[in-house]
Order: sequence, then structure tokens, then C-alpha cells
Amino acid sequence: MHQRQVPFFDYAGLYLEHGDEIRQVIESVLSRGAFILQAEVTRFEEQLAGFLGVSHVIGVANCTDGLELILRALELKAGDEVLLPSHTFVATAAAVRMTGAAPVFVEVGPDHMIDPGDLERRITGRSRAIIPVSLNGRVCRMAEVLAVARQSELLVVEDAAQALGATLDGKKAGTFGVAAAFSFYPAKLLGAFGDAGAVVTSDPELGERVRLMRDHGRDAHGQVQFWGRNSRLDNLQAAVLSWKLERLSVAIERRRTLAGIYDEGLHDVAEVVLPPGPKEDERHFDVYQNYEIEAEARDELQSFLKEAGIQAPVQWGGRPVHAWEGLEVGVRLPVTESLFERLLMLPLHERLSDLDVEYVVETIRRFYGRS
Ligand SMILES: *Cc1c(COP(=O)(O)O)cnc(C)c1O
Repeated sequence: MHQRQVPFFDYAGLYLEHGDEIRQVIESVLSRGAFILQAEVTRFEEQLAGFLGVSHVIGVANCTDGLELILRALELKAGDEVLLPSHTFVATAAAVRMTGAAPVFVEVGPDHMIDPGDLERRITGRSRAIIPVSLNGRVCRMAEVLAVARQSELLVVEDAAQALGATLDGKKAGTFGVAAAFSFYPAKLLGAFGDAGAVVTSDPELGERVRLMRDHGRDAHGQVQFWGRNSRLDNLQAAVLSWKLERLSVAIERRRTLAGIYDEGLHDVAEVVLPPGPKEDERHFDVYQNYEIEAEARDELQSFLKEAGIQAPVQWGGRPVHAWEGLEVGVRLPVTESLFERLLMLPLHERLSDLDVEYVVETIRRFYGRS
């Protein structure tokens, strides 16, 4: 019997569906030889600035570089401490480490994101900045994070890699702090055909520093103003991203529809904790970069799904950042560690059919003995 296969992400699908259009976009760039910092980069930066309502967007090579460039532009240095959740990609913490500053890991709350109470407790005289991470397509508890930051005079730099288009009280992820970085890694909401990212800010001086830093510290006349490096957004990727950004709202609506199917199909299964449904919370508009659940007997469920042709990974290779021995962080975060025994991501991307998601729902219900 043929078994349905539900891959976690479909890397080729979107290209195959729109191949003719996308080949035209690429052909136009290639035939003009427009490879580095050409019109497509500027166009995409302006388009994204319009979408987010920020005044400065700087295309960079990836989100990790974007975070590091922001921290360098803010002159973070050895001895400074930067607070961030441990349920994030290692990149968030690595960006801090690469500046010489020390990442300080904070516990997460029931929403899987930074816990403002624990954040406050970990502030010291060396604290300089907070990097809240809006995970899985939902804005974190930003009002509380900003209040803590104000009280202790800390900078807020957002890791918005997973939250393009998500809002809290009508305000978009990436617009709450002094600056934010977005990722356009292929599996992200807005995915390039390779690596790509952006820094966004409404601070003109900070924006200008990052703009020069991503291109060897050179200004628009090619004059070197300070030390920088090469972290430019590829012009070819920018062209692809512009094409995709135009249809982002369709992609987000599709993700919200699929999240609604999960929500409806699983809300009565007591063994799983679901993320908030798409219409559940008036303050949040979630874009469902991921559909991350908590599940009893997680490992057994994961194997059961795999047997049924369904890929359901645990985020970040299964561990919070502080738990990788090779990073020699040497702290314990009991709340985060115990959460990681229950976390699981269900497949959710715009190329899935309703039937795919219903099949995942049925399989989970079968595992827990529900009809
Ligand atoms: C993907 C991701 C990053 C890194 O993005 P890159 O563009 O691959 O550098 C950083 N933080 C989070 C939360 C991410 O999901």
C-alpha cells in the first residue's frame, strides 16, 4: 500500500511550482551581470522597509552576521554581558561570543520564549543588552522585555529570524528594539535559494554603520571609513526575495490555515500542549514559522510518526544552546532542559495540503489511542 509522506520542509517545491517565473527573475540578473550590490539589493531593502514600516534595511549575507554586525555597531566588547534565551539557534549566542561579549542564558516561559521574570533576575552590573527571540512565528513577551530593558538601561536587539510578519498589538516583530536581524535561510518564512539575511533599524546612525560594515567599512564612494568585513546580501538572492516578498501574505495565510487544522484536530488530546491557535489571541498575529508542540512520550511519538512517513524533528538538533558541551557554557536551566524532553515540531509549510496535515493529526490521535 502506498503510504503518504509528509516531509518537514519541501526545499524544491516552491521553485518547481513557479519555475518559469523564477527563471525569468534569475535570467534577468545573470544576463546583466548584476551580481554585487546592484539595483535588486536596493529594491529589496526598500520593499522590506515598506513591509515592516522601518526606515533602514540593510541586506546582509545571513541573519547570524546581521546580529553580529548590530552588536559590533553598538560597540559591544569583552566583559559585556548579553541576555538571551537558550531555546534559540546557536547563532544568536555565537553572534554575541564573536564580539567578545558573554552570552547569559535565560529560562523560557510557557510560550517557549524568554521569561521576563528570569531575565530580570540575571541582570548584573555588566549587562549591556538583551536579545529576545521571537520564536516559531510569534512575538515574544516584548512589552515585559522592554520594561525590564528600560529599567536597567539595556539595549534590545531582536532576533526576528523566525517572525517576519508576526505582530503584537499591531506592531511587527523587528520593530520593538534598537535593531533586529531577519533570516532568509531557505526554510524560513521568506526563504532565499541559499543564505541571506537583513538588519532593520529606525536609528539612522546605527543603520549607516551596519551598511558600511557589511561592505568592508566602505561608503557609497568606495572610501574606507572604519574596519568592516564582507557580509553583503547577494544581488541574485535579493531578486528572488523581492519576488517572494510580494506573495508573503498568501504564504502566511496558508500557514495559518494549516495551523488551524492542527488546532482543531488536536485540541482535545490531553497528552499534547499546542501553540495558540490562529484566532485564539487578539493581541497576537502569528505567522507559524514552526508548529512546535509539547508531547508526552515524545520520543515514542516521534518514532511512530517516522514509521508513518512523517518527519517531526526537535528544534536545534534536540538541545538548547547552553546544553552543548563543546560550547563550555557550564550553566543549568532546569525549566528549559525539561521542556526539551517534550518539544516536537510538526510539519507546517505552505506546500503541505490539508490532507497532509489531517494525516499527521490522525496519526497522532492513533498514537495516543484516540479515534
Ligand atoms: C535561522 C535562525 C538564525 C540564523 O539565521 P541564518 O540566516 O541562518 O544565519 C538565527 N536565529 C534564529 C532564531 C533562527 O531561527
